Amino acid sequence: MESLKKPTLRMHVVTFKQKMGSVREKSPYRAVYSFKRVIEMKVAMLYGVKDLRIEDIPVPKAGAGEVLVKVKSATTCGTDLKIFQRGYVEKVIKLPTIFGHEWAGEVAQVGEGLEWPEKGMRVRAGNSAPCLHCTMCQKGKYNLCENMIWLWGAYAEYIKVPARMVLVNMQEIPQHVYYEEAAITEPLACVLHGVEEARVKLGDTVAIIGAGPIGLLHLLTVRKIGAEKVIVIDLVEERLNFAEKSGADETINAGKVDAVERVRQLTGGYGADVAIEAIGLPSTWEQALKLVQKGGTVLEFGGCPPGTEIKLSTEQLHYGEVTVLGTFHTTPLHFRKALNLIASRTIDVKPLITRKMRLEDINEAFEILSTSKSEIKIAIKP
Ligand SMILES: [Zn+2]
Ligand SMILES: [Zn+2]
Repeated sequence: MESLKKPTLRMHVVTFKQKMGSVREKSPYRAVYSFKRVIEMKVAMLYGVKDLRIEDIPVPKAGAGEVLVKVKSATTCGTDLKIFQRGYVEKVIKLPTIFGHEWAGEVAQVGEGLEWPEKGMRVRAGNSAPCLHCTMCQKGKYNLCENMIWLWGAYAEYIKVPARMVLVNMQEIPQHVYYEEAAITEPLACVLHGVEEARVKLGDTVAIIGAGPIGLLHLLTVRKIGAEKVIVIDLVEERLNFAEKSGADETINAGKVDAVERVRQLTGGYGADVAIEAIGLPSTWEQALKLVQKGGTVLEFGGCPPGTEIKLSTEQLHYGEVTVLGTFHTTPLHFRKALNLIASRTIDVKPLITRKMRLEDINEAFEILSTSKSEIKIAIKP
């Protein structure tokens, strides 16, 4: 039963030698080394909380409808840091898995049956692809798809893009856009979805809690929409300085002053038109509710730990007509829009990349993100 035998490294080497007739027989290590060079890749594999290992695994092959991409840049994300530090819902990430979800690269192999993309094309894809068939998709709520596929594996030399994702959520990157900028399409797409749902308008005063990557992307976006005044709240002075440089009109260090009181002062006693929570804690979700005026909107953007709850004032909702909404993830349409906004430099995401590091140093990268106050996003170069 030859076909049932589990392939061993030795067998692979033999097969490789047979294929590459010119490999010299002298040293067996030479053959193994060449073999490694041909089919293995370096990846950062996540096994559990704070357990991220650099490993060599075989490069996957693109099957029918799939595309294999050589990753040129992968950017770190607040969600990655959260998963690294405290874990996440299994529906979205099953361990162990190659980690990372924001990436851009060059097409290395195109699976059977595809007319697009071409080998060598600069592309980005993922990190999700809705099914287009379920009840949610049928209603156009693609971000809530019940059969969503999620793609992890950005922190690797190669990533294989599933067939459905090639169809609904892969785009070509214009030549003038850097790979690391294109990798930021994903978080920007999430922010665009949130800001659209919250209906931020020209002339609005917007208060944003959190000056991390997501808070800053909200800042850049509402600025472009034409917010009259943008107030950013955080506990870290370095981040607030960064927000100021990125266009915030006012910044508030909530560790030093009462943020709710200060927002009132800055808005003639009323509060903001829109408050956006970009942290993911019940306490800041509740704080966001206190930042808006009557008729205002609260966008609870940051995902909180499972099982948590917040208190809402019925008075504020009824007599104050305050709208409270949460948004989750994004849709293929917003991915496309986000890449276009990055490419046209309408939203300049480049300053958010504060450091570049090698894939081998990924643990150090997360260490830096956990402790440093001035790093926003790190571009990982495999
Ligand atoms: Zn992300
Ligand atoms: Zn669906």
